[in-house]
Amino acid sequence: MMKNIDWANLSFGYVKTDYNVRCYYRDGQWGEIEVCSDEYLNMHMAAACLHYGQEAFEGLKAYRCPDGKIRVFRMNENATRLQSSCRGIVMPELPTERFEEMVKMVVRLNQAYIPPYESGATLYIRPLLIGTSAQVGVNAAREYAFIIFVTPVGPYFKGGFSSNPYVIMRGYDRSAPLGTGKYKVGGNYAASLYAHSIAHEKGYASEFYLDAKEKKYIDECGAANFFGIKNNTYITPKSTSILPSITNKSLMQLAEDIGLKVEHRPIPEEELETFEEAGACGTAAVISPISYIDDLDTGKRYDFGDKPGPISTKLYNKLRGVQYGTEPDVHGWTTVVIE
Ligand SMILES: *Cc1c(COP(=O)(O)O)cnc(C)c1O
Repeated sequence: MMKNIDWANLSFGYVKTDYNVRCYYRDGQWGEIEVCSDEYLNMHMAAACLHYGQEAFEGLKAYRCPDGKIRVFRMNENATRLQSSCRGIVMPELPTERFEEMVKMVVRLNQAYIPPYESGATLYIRPLLIGTSAQVGVNAAREYAFIIFVTPVGPYFKGGFSSNPYVIMRGYDRSAPLGTGKYKVGGNYAASLYAHSIAHEKGYASEFYLDAKEKKYIDECGAANFFGIKNNTYITPKSTSILPSITNKSLMQLAEDIGLKVEHRPIPEEELETFEEAGACGTAAVISPISYIDDLDTGKRYDFGDKPGPISTKLYNKLRGVQYGTEPDVHGWTTVVIE
């Protein structure tokens, strides 16, 4: 039933699975769902997505749980966020029910590729929406393709839950306050690749962005949201150039559930000095604790210790527990896709 794959040694790469699902938008409406086993797209070379970046995507996971069930986490939030991205870059919105139906379908079709619980690996689900009609004028496309494919990905923390260093990149912006930072679109990632490669070369896990306008406030931690912990408070930045992370939204709720205060507000860089713990959060890692953040322009190092702090660890275990069905799902966040 399950494929013979070395699950625990998988990276965040691409493994071919058997099926993907697709839905095309033509003549002003979404068509029927199609099941496909081809990994390739047949697309016109003048397709709008290829030239002007009319593309949005999502990322979520399916978990093989200790009780034998397969769960996905808050997929309605991914559907809603994709609709927001669609409005942001003028694409037709895909209805939530259609999104959820296709997620369930692609997971069930590829169930042999859902890694075993013990491996720590998961099935990553990648929905994408692209403008496909041929045109060279800068306008929204007339036709679109929505595709969901899946690929098994290895455990994020191969040597156990651990901390990583980040570096402030004052010389680069991922997104602008009135730009597309709040949408999950490919263009933001293209804009981040150069800063990311420099951070990597210098030995950091990722780059750390300050707000593009004033270079005063914390924005994002590479392609993850930032949070800090101090005085029993979970603090995460608010800004129009940050992508609203579903993991962060969930952590804010869980923080409240375990009795922490939660603050969602602008965070000036200097405040980093006052945090007892800090982390990056997103679907890939849930929480990636931060050991230190270097500001190479000022020579300042904000240090949070080389091991994950107690509150980050507690939140990490709690959220993973909900995803794997071992903690009570009091907020109704998970959907059992396979009983
Ligand atoms: C996807 C993404 C995140 C994390 O969002 P999750 O919903 O938690 O996976 C954070 N920042 C950026 C820029 C992203 O694209």
